[in-house]
Amino acid sequence: MSSFEEHLKARLDEIAQAGLERRLRRVDSPQGVHLRVQGRDLLNFSSNDYLGLANHPALRKAAREAVETFGAGSGASRLICGSLSVHHELEETLAEFKATPAALTFSSGYSAAIGTLGACVGRNDIVILDKRVHACVVDAARLSGAKLRVFRHNDLNDLETILKWAAARPAVGGARPRVVIVTESVFSMDGDLAPLREMVELKERHGAWLMLDEAHATGVFGPRGKGLAQHCGVADQIEIQMGTLGKALGAAGGYVCGSRALIDLLINRARPFIFSTAPGPAPVAAAIAGLALAGSSEGDARRERLWKRVSEFPSGFGCGSDAGTGGSSPIRPWIIGEESRAMEVAERLRNAGIFAPAIRFPTVARGSARLRFTLTADHLAEDIGKLRQCLENAITDTAS
Ligand SMILES: *Cc1c(COP(=O)(O)O)cnc(C)c1O
Repeated sequence: MSSFEEHLKARLDEIAQAGLERRLRRVDSPQGVHLRVQGRDLLNFSSNDYLGLANHPALRKAAREAVETFGAGSGASRLICGSLSVHHELEETLAEFKATPAALTFSSGYSAAIGTLGACVGRNDIVILDKRVHACVVDAARLSGAKLRVFRHNDLNDLETILKWAAARPAVGGARPRVVIVTESVFSMDGDLAPLREMVELKERHGAWLMLDEAHATGVFGPRGKGLAQHCGVADQIEIQMGTLGKALGAAGGYVCGSRALIDLLINRARPFIFSTAPGPAPVAAAIAGLALAGSSEGDARRERLWKRVSEFPSGFGCGSDAGTGGSSPIRPWIIGEESRAMEVAERLRNAGIFAPAIRFPTVARGSARLRFTLTADHLAEDIGKLRQCLENAITDTAS
């Protein structure tokens, strides 16, 4: 065996021994409440397709028509010759949806985070993150070169302590360090909400800026699904609003919404935007259709069904919380703790026909492995009933 292969094998053995090995599961059906996984039909409680749009006829049609008009590929990066009219239409639609002067799309939410923090801050600046923000924000903050500080999850006192520390830092070369707070409106692995109004008040008081990741809120929260910032009435005080087109909006890609100057700076400085081929016409057109649907009365009807299912979700399993700063969301984690036990419960559920993979380190902290159930507008009351039954059985089985 070559030394390279030996090295890889040793790394993989370490991962497996820690109970953290990951494998792909091949899915042979479109996204939906029922998935065909490795030859079996499973009831899906793991998707972020909250409104059931990923396989919606309107999005399929939009994608098909965009391929007929623009072809399969976009040919080059946006700044070369790949800035197709569908991209511009999507950005105009997004800016209108989020009520911001401008918007920019990226090939993923991940690259939107990397590009945005990288363009907005540098070595002399300070980025303050909630302990539980998504990995893309952590990576973005590290890559930006800014000084990094982390506050306890949703803890406004801890955040204020750090803001005061930041304000007391000396100016470098005559310039005060810029301070950017980054948080999520709905936390992806816990399903709880950020105390947004209070955070906006705090950052205004301390002269900091706020970047809000609405990945799990866009399409789900707020009037016509416009997000938690609009729900809380603070959208116009948030410097950077980002999110994904790949969750409730049913397509793929990332976005940033904000001022014209912010978007112009990103066009000039966001490296994943500049040095990457423009997203293909199909997902871009699907995202336009997804936004139209999310913002329509059909979107309202879908959100109503979604919240009905959330209210029916079995309580008493330690799944999710309506406590704390929370409020509920379609994300309901059942925190199990030990990695191997979470894997075992997930397998039991799978044998019973329920698909909800275990989430382990490094997606969540060590020793906080969990099953993460997500609900969608297309789940039926009887699907929730089946989940309740399977959870009861899994608890009895694993307790013995
Ligand atoms: C999924 C997710 C992203 C990344 O979005 P993609 O479009 O999937 O790359 C960013 N932030 C949060 C909180 C997410 O859950």
